[in-house]
Amino acid sequence: MREGVNLQRYNTFGLPAIAERYLALTDVGQLSGEAFTEQPALVLGGGSNLVLLERIPGLTVHVLLSGIESTDGNGRFRVRAGTDWNQFVRYTLERGCPGMENLILIPGTVGAAPVQNIGAYGAEVAEFITAVHAWEYGKGMVELTPEDCAFGYRDSRFKREPGRFLITAVDFNLSERRPLKLEYGAIAEELERAGITDPTPRDVANAVTHIRRSKLPDWFFLGNSGSFFKNPVVERSHYGNLRETYADLPAYPIDDAYVKLPAGWLIDRAGLRGAGNERVGTYERQALVMVNRGGASGGDILAFSRHVQETVAEKFGVDLEPEVQVVGNQD
Ligand SMILES: Cc1cc2nc3c(=O)[nH]c(=O)nc-3n(C[C@H](O)[C@H](O)[C@H](O)COP(=O)(O)OP(=O)(O)OC[C@H]3O[C@@H](n4cnc5c(N)ncnc54)[C@H](O)[C@@H]3O)c2cc1C
Repeated sequence: MREGVNLQRYNTFGLPAIAERYLALTDVGQLSGEAFTEQPALVLGGGSNLVLLERIPGLTVHVLLSGIESTDGNGRFRVRAGTDWNQFVRYTLERGCPGMENLILIPGTVGAAPVQNIGAYGAEVAEFITAVHAWEYGKGMVELTPEDCAFGYRDSRFKREPGRFLITAVDFNLSERRPLKLEYGAIAEELERAGITDPTPRDVANAVTHIRRSKLPDWFFLGNSGSFFKNPVVERSHYGNLRETYADLPAYPIDDAYVKLPAGWLIDRAGLRGAGNERVGTYERQALVMVNRGGASGGDILAFSRHVQETVAEKFGVDLEPEVQVVGNQD
C-alpha cells in the first residue's frame, strides 16, 4: 500500500491525479487480505476510459493480474484481468482462433473489456464472453454468467454498479466459426485497396489496425481516451425532423422506433472538430476524440466536454452521454 501516488502515467489522457492510497493487485490471494475490506474508489486497469480529477480519495486498486490460459485447447480461454487486451487478441489470432479480429488494437486490459462491453467495427466483446470471475465486495469470489453481466451498448452491470465487483478473470469462447464482419467502417475499402478479395481473419485484423492507426491519435503522444461520447439513440421522428435540415445526417437503425446517430458527425457539424484551447480540445481528424493538448487537468476535460454537450444539444436537440467514466474530486 502506497500513499499519495500520482496516476498521471497510468491513464491515457495523461491527467495528473493523486490517489490517496494505491495498491497494486498482482495476486488474487491479496483480495482476502485486510486491505480489501474497503470498497475501492477506483479499480484501475490501463486507464484508457477514464477522466481522473485531481484527487482520488480512499483506495485505488491497480489490477495487474496477468496471464492467458487455454482451458480446452480448442478456442476456450481464461484470461486474467490485467492482461493487455490487444495482446490477447493477437494471441488468439496467432493460435488460429479467429472471431475478435475487429476488436484489435483497443487499448486497455481484459478485465475492463466487459465493463463497457468494448466494441468496434460491428463487433462487441459480449459475443465471446462465457463467464466473468470477480471479487464482490462484502461477499467474496463470484462467477457471473453473461446474463448476470447485463451487457448493453457500451454498457454492463459493472458500469452501472461501479466499485461493487473487481473483475479478476474473464472466460472466452472462440470455438464457433463466424462469418467475417466486413461491412463496418472502411474495412471493405481497406481490403480492396490492399488487393485482397478473399480475406482471412488476419487480413481483417490488419485492415482494422491500418484504419485505427490512420484515424486515432496515439495516446502516448497526444493524451486521449478514444471516443469520448456514446453514439446517441433518438426517436425516428426526431431523426426525420433533423433530416429536413441536414439531409446527409447518417443513422443506424435500432428498431422500429429508434435510430442511433454518430456522435462524431454531430460534434463535427456543430463546428467543434479541432475546437478548444491550448490545453484541451477535439482531435482535428476525428471530432469524437477529446485530446489533452498539454497540461490539461480532469477539470479542463470535463468543462470542455460540457461545452460540447451544450452546443450539440442546442443545435440538434440531442443529448450526448459520455462513454468515459469520471472519477475523483476537484480542488
Ligand atoms: C485511442 C483509444 C481508442 C479506443 N477505442 C475504443 C474502441 O474502439 N472501442 C471501445 O469500446 N473502447 C475504446 N476505447 C476505450 C478503452 O480502450 C476501453 O474502454 C477499455 O476497455 C478500457 O480498459 P482499461 O483497462 O484502460 O480500463 P480503465 O480505463 O482503467 O477503466 C475503465 C473502467 O473499468 C473499470 N475497471 C477496469 N478494470 C476493472 C476490473 N478489473 N474490475 C472491475 N472494474 C474495472 C474502471 O474502474 C473504470 O470504471 C479506446 C480508448 C483509447 C485511448
